[in-house]
Amino acid sequence: MTMTNARSIRVRGVVQGVGFRPFVYRLARENALTGWVLNETEGVEIHLEGAGERLDAFVRRLRAEAPPAAGITTIDIREAAADGLDTFTIRDSRAGDQPVARISPDLAVCDRCLTELFDPADPRYRYPYINCTDCGPRYSIITSLPYDRASTTMAGWRMDAACAADYHDPLTRRFHAQPVACESCGPRYVLRHDGEATPVNVVRRAAKMLRDGRILAVKGIGGYHLACDARRAEVVSALRERKYRKEKPFALMVRDLASARRLAAISPADAALLTSAARPIVLVPRLVDLPGVAPESGSFGIMLPYTPLHHLLFEAGAPDPMVMTSANRSSEPIAYEDADALTRLAGLADAFLVGERPIARRVEDSVVRAGTLGPVVLRRARGYAPGAVAELPPGPPILALGADLKNAITLVIDGQAFVTQFIGDLEHAESARAFRETIDDLLRMYAVRRSQMVVVHDAHPEYCSTRYAPELGAASTIRVQHHRAHIASVLAERGEWERQVLGVALDGTGYGDDGTIWGGEIFIGSVAHGFVRRAHLRRATLVGGDAAARHPVQAAVGFLDQLEDLPDLRAEPFRLGLRYDNASKVLASGTRCFATTSMGRLFDCAAALAGFTRPVTYEGQAAIWLEEMANNESSVNGYPFPFTNGELDFRPLLQGMVHDRARGRSPGEISAAFHAGVARGLATAVIGLSAMAGIDTIVVSGGVFQNELLVAELVPLLRAADLTVWANHLVPPNDGGISLGQAAIAACGPGA
Ligand code: ZN
Ligand code: FE
Repeated sequence: MTMTNARSIRVRGVVQGVGFRPFVYRLARENALTGWVLNETEGVEIHLEGAGERLDAFVRRLRAEAPPAAGITTIDIREAAADGLDTFTIRDSRAGDQPVARISPDLAVCDRCLTELFDPADPRYRYPYINCTDCGPRYSIITSLPYDRASTTMAGWRMDAACAADYHDPLTRRFHAQPVACESCGPRYVLRHDGEATPVNVVRRAAKMLRDGRILAVKGIGGYHLACDARRAEVVSALRERKYRKEKPFALMVRDLASARRLAAISPADAALLTSAARPIVLVPRLVDLPGVAPESGSFGIMLPYTPLHHLLFEAGAPDPMVMTSANRSSEPIAYEDADALTRLAGLADAFLVGERPIARRVEDSVVRAGTLGPVVLRRARGYAPGAVAELPPGPPILALGADLKNAITLVIDGQAFVTQFIGDLEHAESARAFRETIDDLLRMYAVRRSQMVVVHDAHPEYCSTRYAPELGAASTIRVQHHRAHIASVLAERGEWERQVLGVALDGTGYGDDGTIWGGEIFIGSVAHGFVRRAHLRRATLVGGDAAARHPVQAAVGFLDQLEDLPDLRAEPFRLGLRYDNASKVLASGTRCFATTSMGRLFDCAAALAGFTRPVTYEGQAAIWLEEMANNESSVNGYPFPFTNGELDFRPLLQGMVHDRARGRSPGEISAAFHAGVARGLATAVIGLSAMAGIDTIVVSGGVFQNELLVAELVPLLRAADLTVWANHLVPPNDGGISLGQAAIAACGPGA
């Protein structure tokens, strides 16, 4: 005879609003167990009674068969006293003081919902807002916690009898699916065009307008897109003109993986990213040309449809591929509120496909790439935010404000580090407003008392985020140097606080300990005990401050003036032009000149020498161009980049470039030799320093490590010396990851 035992099980992670309780309910019933399950502030609590072997079977399947949208971090199992229950039930939620349950990111529509969407017999046939507990919107519709329909933007729609029946039945996929709705009770899409608004046949009409070469504003999950036919150069160029977007590549949406494969070489790792529930934009090597979509780039940014509406549009004959780009004018945040979109996009879109369900907050598409060391997140937003990316030691709430470029914010509660979506560049007033709104939103959602929190900001005194920090009314504020935060962000992802590492932080700009502009730094240390700067790029001059980042030629002047016997760089083949002359005069005068060790500016300088002599029209453009040039070359010998006395000397590297260009070597070969030289010089420095310090783990971060060619050249050299290389995978290596590193140093660092 079997004994009745009891267990108390607590599950933490993303386990609310993802169909976890009905899953537990079914699992308990299948194993003939009694008890109950409920949502509590930290996750899900389960009480189980039954025979020991069936309890064990339940626990095994709990992790193995969890719903696709769930993300379990811990399962805590304890013996409990049996109450002699004779059924299994789902009990009401238990609310606590401070909600720490994780908010699920928005998820792509699932396969089962898609089958229903195209099944004429299904009550939600062709309903553009179909969803279930495995899929659909979350973060973009939540207005407060706990996650209930009344605290979402679906609060205004009453479920009809059929939807309510699904919602209350634990055996359906829509049990407590908060946004559940159907054509008869839920929100609809309306087509606004020529002063008219109609809900009739909107998908077919929109698809036809797109085929006819019109530009449509389409409301999605976290904002509006501008959509058009990517195969028609004149339409794409009209979109560029209206958006004031000169050269930055547009993202594409394709019907399915087969369509993606016709446009680009899709590796298994790319396919896994494309079809993941986050459905990010994935950067992939392109096989065909679509004029105007990605000028001068060897890649396309491709995503698959992720809302039911996207699938309906393709089924109705929308162009494949379509350009799907954030609806805004260049550098503004994406439009997400209907009234604002209708005004701001009036001159941009020929028609509007407006969904009636409001968007609670702006969440842009994420951008990722399958890199040498694993996935690289370049922009972290829809599908990932506001997921927890790290578990820090417990302590008071921490609000880390990040950097001013590519801003994102981290909030730490009970050790859970939640990272917000990409917010933007805070120098733009609209983004700065979004920054403040996101902070208010976070603190309200998680009921954080400002007087009890610790605020962390960058060391840059002029950053907008730095100046805002004292206004938050926090218990204390801490500042963290930019490049240490980059290194700490990698270690935070892994929970490695004590590990001694050698950290290589390479990026464009960050305020250094000595008040100069850093960006080519090598540290030794740990999060817990601090990072000491041990080496850096040889100092150059940043001519004219921030403007140098927009003009590679101007950046070049501050490096090239240290070279001997330069040829006339205004002449062929260099043609550095008037800006070279002017910047040289500024440099000679010494005004508005700053010392810098920025590796990003060194890449700009190299791009200028290889032929990129115009201003950039988006951040990082010159370095991306240089990488593209080099990518088409077979292996070359690198230019020398010697490491002596803690300094990487760029002079021989640039001397080699100048000399080769003057004698007519191709820009592609020169670019390849530059990359190979940088990788070899860095490897020499890293191998030497780590051997001296007895360290075997190398951490790389900073925007320069978005350069996949550099990573691909550097990593084998380090591995050949038995070194382990760690990089970012959950937050971006660019400044989008800074806030996580700031939070980690505030929680575990020497001052903590
Ligand atoms: Zn679904
Ligand atoms: Fe940075």
